[in-house]
Amino acid sequence: MDNLVLILLITVIVLLVMFIGLLAFFGHRFLKLKEQNKVEEKPVVNLNDASHEKKESISPKLLSALRSNDKTEFQSSVYCVDHPDVFSHGKCAISYDALCENCLTKQENILIGRKYLDLFLDNDWVELQMVKDEKELRRSYINIKKRLWEQEDLPVIVQGHFKINIQDDKVEQYIVILSRQEDIARVRDEFSI
Ligand SMILES: [Zn+2]
Repeated sequence: MDNLVLILLITVIVLLVMFIGLLAFFGHRFLKLKEQNKVEEKPVVNLNDASHEKKESISPKLLSALRSNDKTEFQSSVYCVDHPDVFSHGKCAISYDALCENCLTKQENILIGRKYLDLFLDNDWVELQMVKDEKELRRSYINIKKRLWEQEDLPVIVQGHFKINIQDDKVEQYIVILSRQEDIARVRDEFSI
């Protein structure tokens, strides 16, 4: 009989301790949540409507831009942008996205994403310039090309091109700029060529 009482007593004490523990745990979480809400509420209260809206509309864009930058630097050169678990095979000359073998096609030695194949085939491409490849020049050309594509859907092909110099048998690398017939003036202007 005494044993039974003792067991009951111990059970009650254990349950009580567990109850207090749970109470402390949830109480702590509740306080933490409240504190977070306070922190989150603060800027909303301090901002007027206009600047608040501005903040709301800019920050997701900025975030996605940062994320896509991150991707370009570290991922898209390794993995296909449409198949994140498949290694990329090269960059599309139109979108400059890294794509896997299935997503790419080669047209006259130019790598084109399959989704932009029609855009490539339906247009006449004119070679606007061929200059010796230099790192700085290539970087600035690619930046212009990316900007025109991303902001205006204007496709320009900036392509590396190898030539063998017969005199000294050395391979020389050139940059070639191709534009659609209708964009020639615009592209010349943008690239200052
Ligand atoms: Zn792919």
